[in-house]
Amino acid sequence: MARAFDCDVVVVAAGVAGLTAARGLAEAGASVVLLEAAERVGGRVHTVRLAGSNLPVETGAEFVHGRPPELIALAHEAGLTLVEREGKFYSFENGRLDEAEWEDSAFEVLDQLPEEGDQPFSEFLASQKLPEKTAKRVTDYVEGFNAADARVIGTAALRKQQQAEEAIEGERIFHVLEGYDRVPLFLLDRFLAAGGRVHLETPVTEITWKRGEALVRTANAAVMELRARRVVVALPLGVLKAGTVTVSPMPQQAAEAIRKLVMGAATRVTLSFRERFWDEDAPGLSFLFAAGEVVPVWWNPAADSAVLTGWIGGPSAARGPMGESLRHAGLATLGRIFGREDLGSLLLDWNSHDWQRDPLSLGAYSYVPAGAVEASEALAEAFEDTLYFCGEHTDTTGQWGTVHAAMRSGMRVVRAIGNSPVSH
Ligand SMILES: Cc1cc2nc3c(=O)[nH]c(=O)nc-3n(C[C@H](O)[C@H](O)[C@H](O)COP(=O)(O)OP(=O)(O)OC[C@H]3O[C@@H](n4cnc5c(N)ncnc54)[C@H](O)[C@@H]3O)c2cc1C
Repeated sequence: MARAFDCDVVVVAAGVAGLTAARGLAEAGASVVLLEAAERVGGRVHTVRLAGSNLPVETGAEFVHGRPPELIALAHEAGLTLVEREGKFYSFENGRLDEAEWEDSAFEVLDQLPEEGDQPFSEFLASQKLPEKTAKRVTDYVEGFNAADARVIGTAALRKQQQAEEAIEGERIFHVLEGYDRVPLFLLDRFLAAGGRVHLETPVTEITWKRGEALVRTANAAVMELRARRVVVALPLGVLKAGTVTVSPMPQQAAEAIRKLVMGAATRVTLSFRERFWDEDAPGLSFLFAAGEVVPVWWNPAADSAVLTGWIGGPSAARGPMGESLRHAGLATLGRIFGREDLGSLLLDWNSHDWQRDPLSLGAYSYVPAGAVEASEALAEAFEDTLYFCGEHTDTTGQWGTVHAAMRSGMRVVRAIGNSPVSH
């Protein structure tokens, strides 16, 4: 590592976390190079357009959960419109479609999570001696929302998450009307305006570092390698776990944390129809819960949209259908719920992205197993003021698996570097 530095900081990966860090550092006066494997920025925020849909369609993150101040401020700065999704909830059980309360039994149990200790959620639930039907609903809710296995996710993390959500009105949900991808695109725009440089289609393969310097190797012959004073690793947990990017030395506590945290599984399929065929049976539908169906959760993004998105989260997503078979399973589920056999002929377009098998994510989003609630804090350390990790899995505020967690983690790195004894 003898040659001069190419820049002050290399940021590895341009999801919302990496973009937030890169923008903040560049605006603070550092020379920053951002390296991204894909041909686009945004990572798990990925918006597409579908035939027949008057709104952009999300393939990854869709909702702004509650009123997280940093994301609300960014949306405001970028001139984006946040539209609250209100409407009615329906449930389909024993062949009947009825208007329902929003998973109220799940919320009641989550309010009873123990103040002390940490155990797998399924063990805690068993100790509550709830009727079988209620326990199943609660398990479905926890697994679906957290993309988690109820036998693994810990009560300490769920409690921390509950408290964090209460602080931001987490039960409210909003869409970014112009498309969620406008968030990462705005961050990129600000980063470039502050003098930052970005290389797309540049997968990082290896990071070697010691105090005060880092060498980042890539598989892009036009970039090859960069030498910097610091490196920010904003790769997803799934990629870190797979070890396809080597970090040497990997600090012991970071390795432990990466091993302990879990990358959850979630699958979504978005179906764009010729007409809102559900309006008669389920007027005003926003969410529909169909426990026991292959695709058990559905939502309609807006009262004037003929789009339905189906969701499978947790273990059933990991082993469930994908691609064409997911489209078939989704249409079959809706056909049963609404007693229709002609839905295939009403379908104009559809989309689904396999985040589990996408080598650039290797999962949907992270969750915290019992006994690992400190793991994200361990990853959030500034290692020798040179190596930093960010990304939703490094969130220390209990909001793992969200866009605002990714933002928060990027902002934490900006603060840590700003406060560090080594100047840019
Ligand atoms: C299906 C789904 C639904 C979701 N729904 C919501 C929601 O409604 N609301 C919400 O708040 N959150 C939601 N999330 C979670 C949210 O999308 C993530 O928490 C957030 O976008 C993660 O940002 P990140 O920057 O940490 O990681 P990512 O967005 O994954 O960014 C990591 C980047 O690393 C890049 N990369 C990978 N390997 C390399 C390499 N070797 N070299 C260089 N770059 C590399 C990737 O291409 C990617 O751009 C959802 C996620 C999924 C998958």
